[in-house]
Amino acid sequence: MILRTQKIELNPNNKQSTLMSQHAGYARVAFNFALSSFNAGLEVDEWRTYQDIKREFNAVKRDRFPWCDGLSQNASKNAIHNFGDALTRWKSKQNRFPTFRKRSGKCSYQADNGVGTVEVYKKRIKLPKIGWVRMREALRFTGEVSKVVVSKRNGRWFVSILVRCDSSNYTHQPTLFDDKQPIGIDVGINTLATCSNGVKYENPRPLKRYQRKLRRANKALSRKSKGSQNWQKAKKRLGAVHYRIGCIREDTHHKASTAIVKRASAIGIETLNISGLLKNRRLAKALLDSALSGFLTMLKYKADRRRVSITQANRFFASSKTCSNCGHKKTDLTLSDRTYHCTGCGFECDRDLNAAINLCPV
Ligand SMILES: [Zn+2]
Repeated sequence: MILRTQKIELNPNNKQSTLMSQHAGYARVAFNFALSSFNAGLEVDEWRTYQDIKREFNAVKRDRFPWCDGLSQNASKNAIHNFGDALTRWKSKQNRFPTFRKRSGKCSYQADNGVGTVEVYKKRIKLPKIGWVRMREALRFTGEVSKVVVSKRNGRWFVSILVRCDSSNYTHQPTLFDDKQPIGIDVGINTLATCSNGVKYENPRPLKRYQRKLRRANKALSRKSKGSQNWQKAKKRLGAVHYRIGCIREDTHHKASTAIVKRASAIGIETLNISGLLKNRRLAKALLDSALSGFLTMLKYKADRRRVSITQANRFFASSKTCSNCGHKKTDLTLSDRTYHCTGCGFECDRDLNAAINLCPV
């Protein structure tokens, strides 16, 4: 059995989108109820499990939240389960202690009631208490639908569907090119990816245009007084720009990573300096770096699906400073040096290409 997720945009009518908002609100209320109940338990030295909390919630919900009657109880049930998972992760030190969900925060809820409880037919999905909602595209995978999460972003509704696929249908994807070779990849700001075979994947031009828009939207927001009507509007506008940038970036990353993995027999990548990133106070730069680590993650899972081995270089490996011809290490390389010129052997080559060759496996 193989698990696959697909996120699809929904095309709900007005009534349906109102209902989805109400369900997301219900999930938020249930999660916050669970958190305060757990905190109250801690005060009297009692460890309440999520099962205890669920029982408590079900006993009082009709009195305290009478409006929940027309809604699917899966929303609250799954929210309390999620709280339980968050507690487990906190206990095993994977996460910080859960915090209360805000009305202005993420708007989402889990709609299913276990494996096989939500029906998907062509470009439609049947959500409990909401009915058949149109989807922008059909589900790509065949199998049992096991988890359905509805979420809202930038005024649009999405559904993320987890499918349990029969593994015999998905052994591995076919080999498409005969001339496969090991490829090293250098990722960067101006050029998204430089491959050791000389192929470059540029970042698309709209990205730069939207970077400027982002800066302007940020400035506009900072000029408004916090919490005011105009501040809310500016915040929405900023969110829209972020969303657009995210979409363009994700699209580029998908296209480049698929193209690379299709042609590679083995892949070598670098390790991005994430701790260095946290010290960086410039927001835009930090966002970009996290986007690059997202690109590397994409390369990893796509390589894995095609059974292409992937090696990640040691964090301290100086792929840019080392000469790919003789191994000489240059200590005075600055970011503005676009060409690598080796003082040891006289080798000269594009800076990113030199790094990519260094990262190439074998
Ligand atoms: Zn050299």
